[in-house]
Amino acid sequence: MPSFDPSEFDVSELGPKVQGIEDVEELEELLAAEEDGENRAAVLTVIESRIESLSADDEEGDADLDLAEMSAADVGNALQGIDDVERLRDMLDREESGEDRDAVTRLIRRRIDSLEGGDGEDEEAGDEEPESPEERHPDLDHPTADKRYVKALESGSFGDMWVYCETQAGELLDVTREMLGHARTMMDDYNETYVDDDAEDERVVAVLIGDDPARHADDCIALGADVVVYHEDERLDRFRHKPYTEIFADMARWGADPPNRAGSEGHGGETADWRDYDEPRYTLYPATNNGRDLSALAQAELDSGLASDCSGLYIEETVISNPVKTGSAGTNRTFERVLHMKRPDFSGFEYSTILCLDNPNREFHPQGASVIPGSFDLPDPDDDREGLVVEHDADLDDDWFRVDVTEFDRLEGGVDLTGHDVVVAVGRGIGDDPTRGIELAVDLAEAFEDADVGVSRGIVTGSYNFDGHVERYTEEERQIGETGQVIEPEIYIAAGISGAVQHKVGCDESDTIVAVNTDPDARIFDWSDYFIEGDLFEVLPELTEAVKAGELSVAADGGIVRGGTDDDAAEGRRGDSDE
Ligand code: FAD
Repeated sequence: MPSFDPSEFDVSELGPKVQGIEDVEELEELLAAEEDGENRAAVLTVIESRIESLSADDEEGDADLDLAEMSAADVGNALQGIDDVERLRDMLDREESGEDRDAVTRLIRRRIDSLEGGDGEDEEAGDEEPESPEERHPDLDHPTADKRYVKALESGSFGDMWVYCETQAGELLDVTREMLGHARTMMDDYNETYVDDDAEDERVVAVLIGDDPARHADDCIALGADVVVYHEDERLDRFRHKPYTEIFADMARWGADPPNRAGSEGHGGETADWRDYDEPRYTLYPATNNGRDLSALAQAELDSGLASDCSGLYIEETVISNPVKTGSAGTNRTFERVLHMKRPDFSGFEYSTILCLDNPNREFHPQGASVIPGSFDLPDPDDDREGLVVEHDADLDDDWFRVDVTEFDRLEGGVDLTGHDVVVAVGRGIGDDPTRGIELAVDLAEAFEDADVGVSRGIVTGSYNFDGHVERYTEEERQIGETGQVIEPEIYIAAGISGAVQHKVGCDESDTIVAVNTDPDARIFDWSDYFIEGDLFEVLPELTEAVKAGELSVAADGGIVRGGTDDDAAEGRRGDSDE
């Protein structure tokens, strides 16, 4: 009989339990019990692969894995199936006298440690003062890939959520406001969950850099910040990689390693008087051009990771069974205070949640994210909120300003397709008479009260000859999609557009999507609410007439109303053909 009944556990619980079983016979009994009971394919695979790996161990003996042929990741995976410490020591010897890769020797040592419960000679070896990365890699100017050695964080701590508050042309961006509001909500929950009543709450810290950034301090506090740290210098009137990165990183390290200040003796463990931690626990940047730039540079400078282009953030504990994170196979570890960073992948079809989890026995998990504008609601400012305003003071090296912007044009406002009730977009389907196609789209848009015209990328990159009077409707600034605008109108009319995924991600949050296409197999059929199979040169004028005659309009709750009443709404949703 197996020591437990597999049907009492789900797959995620069974994984670690199965990894903890060394006895092939018991595993075979477990396999039989699962086959007789729930017979879940995933569970059978887990048990079978454990049996396989134990059997392989027995067969292979000591003359096994050719480490030189394996990547560190391959070795890591293989190690999970090896429980014989002597064999592991042999592997360690072979690696040390061969490739001697840090990552591989560390993995093997850790595996030995976990099997020996942390005792034994390898632990003593682990107590030795490790060589610093600078000593090991004198040829590199920033050799901190191995974060075990980040000096400022030895026995250090993290605290607070920092928000980089981007300004453009001196004004706070909306995404900055959105991040401050969401940071406030997250840190309120955080303090309630993790901070004792008698301890000091962790705070939202707004970071401002520019030529006159302090004028936004009150706004940042009203939007949710507890502390505003700003650096002011007229040379910082526009974003520049080097000084902005140096300043941000310096602010972030201020607690542990403050820079030389006027009148100070220099580096010496002095901490800024408004904080007592080494680095921010969480850091948010806007996923704008400048914010993306700064986030990558500053987080690298701080030896931290970054989840870029996030659209969802929350803090929660999480249970992990991966041995690399738990320290030993077959155990679970609960990580607290984990920033869950959700980001769209595969052109918006999948969402990944990125977690920045530390390895066992190490405290190094600053968590950083850049945030897509529009992901969170704009908060209502609370002008009664109070906060601390701190000026960051550091000498800025002239060398950081070697690159200067001598001349620039400020772009006109551009076309903003967001916020309209209706957007009429056209694609390559206008190819037979491109100018006429655009005219028809404009006519239809004008028939609605609040509508504008957009295009697919097919129009922007196509080599059409448009007459002058419609040319402005064909510019890139009207492109909808992954590399264009993302819109959510109440009605989106896509005429002569096939529905490529890169186009879809720019409009599929619209309330109602109407496609006009000659091809019923076009991909847009699958994700439109109404599919009109027909020639846009015939259908668009008919739609225009119907709107003008009051036969079609925008319903109070979005969507289409036929004949002017909500009761008479057209039928056929997502994929239904409505010829
Ligand atoms: P087509 O795919 O050629 O479709 C034309 C459609 O018109 C067909 O379905 C056809 O049946 C129909 N049709 C033909 N004649 C008529 C008629 N008389 N009446 C009605 N229907 C007719 N695309 C975007 O739109 N936005 C983006 O942001 C974007 N970003 C991209 C990013 C990357 C990295 C890449 C690789 C591509 C990107 N694209 C983007 C391009 C995208 O993959 C498609 O190539 C593009 O959307 C196709 O445009 P289209 O639908 O107008 O043309």
